[in-house]
Amino acid sequence: MYSEDTIAAISTPLGEGGIGIVRLSGNKALHIAGSIFRSPRNKTPNALNTHQVIYGHIINPINGDEIDEVLVTVMKSPKSYTKEDIVEINCHGGAITLRKTLELVIKQGARLAEPGEFTKRAFLNGRIDLSQAEAVLDLIRSRTEQSSRIALEQLKGGLSTKIGLLRDRLTEICANVEAHIDFPEDEIETATRQELMASVVDIRRELSMLSKTYEEARFFRDGLSTAIVGRPNVGKSSLLNALLGEDRAIVAETPGTTRDVIEEYLNIKGLPLRIMDTAGIRDVEDIAEKEGVKRSLSSIRDADLVVAIFDSSKPLRYEDFDVIKKLAFKKTIFALNKVDLQSVIDESSFSSLLIHPSTMIIRISATRGDGLEELKEAVFNSCIGDWKEEREGILVTNIRHRTAIDSSMQYLDRSLDSLIERQPPEILALDLRDSLNSLGEIIGHVTTEDILNKIFSDFCIGK
Ligand code: GDP
Repeated sequence: MYSEDTIAAISTPLGEGGIGIVRLSGNKALHIAGSIFRSPRNKTPNALNTHQVIYGHIINPINGDEIDEVLVTVMKSPKSYTKEDIVEINCHGGAITLRKTLELVIKQGARLAEPGEFTKRAFLNGRIDLSQAEAVLDLIRSRTEQSSRIALEQLKGGLSTKIGLLRDRLTEICANVEAHIDFPEDEIETATRQELMASVVDIRRELSMLSKTYEEARFFRDGLSTAIVGRPNVGKSSLLNALLGEDRAIVAETPGTTRDVIEEYLNIKGLPLRIMDTAGIRDVEDIAEKEGVKRSLSSIRDADLVVAIFDSSKPLRYEDFDVIKKLAFKKTIFALNKVDLQSVIDESSFSSLLIHPSTMIIRISATRGDGLEELKEAVFNSCIGDWKEEREGILVTNIRHRTAIDSSMQYLDRSLDSLIERQPPEILALDLRDSLNSLGEIIGHVTTEDILNKIFSDFCIGK
């Protein structure tokens, strides 16, 4: 097991709620829980079978004070999330009782868990691999159903299985090549080289397909960061409200920070849109016009997509041109707002101002609702080209996995060069091994033993 420590934490969000859970994991979890718990029939958590629940009270063992009325759930090793003994104390969901219960279990010998430590233990104790551990977090953080579906697929081991299969095939190739190192008189024959090349190319092709899924799939995990820009009064805030009103998304407030970093998410056909600088959009009345434009422009830099808004009922002003100028190299959708009023900007003269005249221009009315569906469609299609609702196959949503896959491909490229140049098997084996290790990084494996095992199991060495 990973550690002798027993860890504890409040596993539910702080604040008022029906219930709140203090969770313990480790070999002293049952003992610690037992030392602060009284059931009507004096039954202890330790006496329960795994996955049983018991009713009782949390009592301060020093002075006998009653802290809360609780239900205690016991999950015994190895059939638990961490593979260790886990006790979950279901308190009433109030900050005081939860904190007091946590303090008691710490006094009785538990240690405060670090962020993510339960899941880290699940990984280190071999219940899930690294990509699955990461998927737990993705699942918790997912903003739309589509995002959570993708995370769940990864948690269920979709990516791990795919990577595992590719690793098996690569391990076999490695074993084949390394057998030639052990028997130096056996040069790798041309036919074998060609077979090896075909296998490597095939694996590389599959990796490349996986890597490419990242370009679109990442938006479902991280959100598409979108800047809504335009000079004051063109309708940015009205548009944001109109979009939020229809598909109320999640407003995530990072604790202890100002509302400047409030992130607002829109759900556009399952795609989470992270709206940048919503404070900047909403607070323009408080700040000078110039400042408003400056803030708008600064959010362009980090955006995946910009929605630039113009007031079609008024002639363009120099601030509008300021906005247009900044968008030359950005993926942008131009929205001509207030089409319910008499238009003074016509679409074709407007498009002639743009550096890329083919850029999408959509006529909308944020207050009346015209063009909003078209705008959403355009936003989705701008970054998620040919996305299918029930997309087949495994998706890579995590940059760490993408980087590891790309590095694995680079090593495969080198091994292909080595094969073409008829390099000795030692050189070839090095690149193959590095490629394998890169893939192993995704699931958190060490590979050297695997390769050795493969040699012994697949080859008849005693021959
Ligand atoms: P912002 O400063 O860019 O965020 O602009 P606001 O959203 O605050 O809008 C400025 C003014 O324009 C407000 O009085 C809105 O009601 C009005 N407005 C916004 N969108 C429309 C629209 O589509 N049609 C009309 N007629 N007025 C709009």
